[in-house]
Amino acid sequence: MTDVAVIGAGVAGIQAALDLADHAVHVHLIEREPTIGGHMAQLDKTFPTNDCSMCILSPKMVEVARHPNITIHTCTEVASVAGEVGNFSVTIRKKPRYINEAECNGCGDCIGVCPVEVYNEFDAGIGVRKAIYKPHPQAVPDIVVKDNEHCIECGLCYDICGRDAVLREDAEKEETLTVAAVVVATGYATFDARRKDQMRYLAAPDVITSLEFERMICASGPTGGKLRRLSDGTTPGSIAFVQCVGSRDVSIDRPYCSGVCCMYAMKNAMLIKEKSPDTEVVIFYNDIRAYGKGYEEYYERAQKMGVRFLRGFPGEVVAGSGRMTLQAEDTETGEVKTYHPDLVVLSVGLEPAPGAAAIAERLGIEQVETGFLAARDEKIAPVRTIRPGIYIAGAAAGPRDIPDSVAMGGAAAMRAFLDTQRVA
Ligand code: SF4
Ligand code: SF4
Repeated sequence: MTDVAVIGAGVAGIQAALDLADHAVHVHLIEREPTIGGHMAQLDKTFPTNDCSMCILSPKMVEVARHPNITIHTCTEVASVAGEVGNFSVTIRKKPRYINEAECNGCGDCIGVCPVEVYNEFDAGIGVRKAIYKPHPQAVPDIVVKDNEHCIECGLCYDICGRDAVLREDAEKEETLTVAAVVVATGYATFDARRKDQMRYLAAPDVITSLEFERMICASGPTGGKLRRLSDGTTPGSIAFVQCVGSRDVSIDRPYCSGVCCMYAMKNAMLIKEKSPDTEVVIFYNDIRAYGKGYEEYYERAQKMGVRFLRGFPGEVVAGSGRMTLQAEDTETGEVKTYHPDLVVLSVGLEPAPGAAAIAERLGIEQVETGFLAARDEKIAPVRTIRPGIYIAGAAAGPRDIPDSVAMGGAAAMRAFLDTQRVA
């Protein structure tokens, strides 16, 4: 059997891994985080069908875990890649998890006794996690990780674990894989809204990002799906979404459209209206970009449900005690409109994942001007790179939604499969 490395285990990487594995190719699925799943695992519902995100993703994650042709490497990054198509040497480095992975059964007893609470990355800060933790209940692999940066070595987790799975000492491990091809699906990061200081993110408690909103509205999230103002815990009666925060903005070197924010804002606005029809929901937008199959109809549905769309960008969020103030010129009527929402959601754009430049350099591939990974030819070879045998998929190659990421993951897998056949 010939092997392929898939770097990044979000939905694009998972799709690539499953397609290759189903064609009898052995896949090394390499993920820097302690679980596979990527950003999709954090989302509540997905547009344009409003299906539960984890209901789609979780079965795929389980299939990956059970597939005899897939080896998962979590907490792992690529250190170097040498060789050529058909015979690459990929050196990977696994960070210490401080857990005996063969012994841990994911029971969670250690989590229950750990006294340390810190920022929860998975919940985008809406909630806390322990120093020993599982990233989320459906994590794959279904085991914990000890965060030694925050651990105070109280010893409680060592004592309670009946399997002696918690390790006091652990070390980075290096391994070199021989593979015929590499698929890079390292995903994206969300724009840091603090860079638009007029939007008052982190300065005003009731200004949150769209990712924080996803965790807040998710039934399995830290608030059990209940919308709350972070300032006083009350239910917001009016919610404003501000589009293009970190997109189409040359002043902060983000000139491109992030492609997904119009749609995810409409989705979240509709979810609010489904739960609470009387809540006032206004979306401040530049242009609505509803370009995919069924997306225009989705936009119309949002309007019929009572979501208000205002074509104009508020210059700032004015926050005092109580409600905030957003003012924008409605560019369709020329009128200046003022709203006083209880909660402001910033629709943050997508940007290259941290480390995109490093991975491009290690793989010997190029980046486009915006920092995303470059295809050899966007029109006729969108998953190929300038280096034969190395392919790109998903949002690593530029902002794209879930259906496009899945399609691209499958396309990259097929190209990699052909490389394995050439050397077989
Ligand atoms: Fe359970 Fe031990 Fe694993 Fe913690 S480390 S989840 S106590 S088996
Ligand atoms: Fe938590 Fe560290 Fe104590 Fe374990 S030893 S319970 S991880 S603080």
